[in-house]
Amino acid sequence: MPPLAGPIAATRFAALTTRQVAIFRRCARGVLLCAALLLVAACAQAPVHNPLATWVPSPNFDVRRPVLIVLHFTHQHSVQQSLDTLRTSNSSGPVSAHYLIGADGHIYQLVADTRRAWHAGAGHWGTITDVNSASIGIELDNDGQTAFAPAQIDSLLRLLTDLTTRWHIPRTQVIGHEDMAPGRKDDPGPQFPWQQLADAGFGQWPRGVLVDPPPGFSPWLALRAVGYPLQDRAATVRAFHHHFRGTDGDQLDAEDLRILDALTR
Ligand SMILES: [Zn+2]
Repeated sequence: MPPLAGPIAATRFAALTTRQVAIFRRCARGVLLCAALLLVAACAQAPVHNPLATWVPSPNFDVRRPVLIVLHFTHQHSVQQSLDTLRTSNSSGPVSAHYLIGADGHIYQLVADTRRAWHAGAGHWGTITDVNSASIGIELDNDGQTAFAPAQIDSLLRLLTDLTTRWHIPRTQVIGHEDMAPGRKDDPGPQFPWQQLADAGFGQWPRGVLVDPPPGFSPWLALRAVGYPLQDRAATVRAFHHHFRGTDGDQLDAEDLRILDALTR
């Protein structure tokens, strides 16, 4: 084949070079993006070796244990919808939970117990200021309007028995999402059967005959002692009412004080 005439060859060569350059640029952008993502992922991890100290490794360690269990409702309409959301993201960004329990009682696990799932977000409970790091999150398939199915609660009780036994989590350390994030969250809501859980030994619940608290009793100190945040007191009272009265309302009454006295006595 005869060689191409000079101007035509130059044009084809220039066109090929332009395409190659475009491909190279796309590849370079991809490589740079991957490198940036790896860097972000690396930066998100705490340094394995603290530069303040001399690293003298010991073989004697294991995984950290969760010390709290946080219950949620999905506020969605099907298990499949929630399985999709809990493996991708919602309107706020990526989310997950360790477990999801369907209305039929089927238990799904999405994150290992020893891993930090993204279910709790901002808020605190007692002295636990990073709830995701310290807790196991359990989502219940529920739209926030309908009653929780008996089969679902039966499975939850079995799972709570398993988790508190295997991880030595105190049975009282079972709370709702709204308990640690009042005002920001409203799940599992006033319909959740906290008394049924308490009868099975889970969560905090007032015991014995309720009586008026002694003079000088502070409901706010009691709420704090139970574990509630107090940044927004009206929101805290609403969360307390959902949990311990199954009602709404942001004003404390005499029965609330009796409950709080019994919880902290
Ligand atoms: Zn929640």
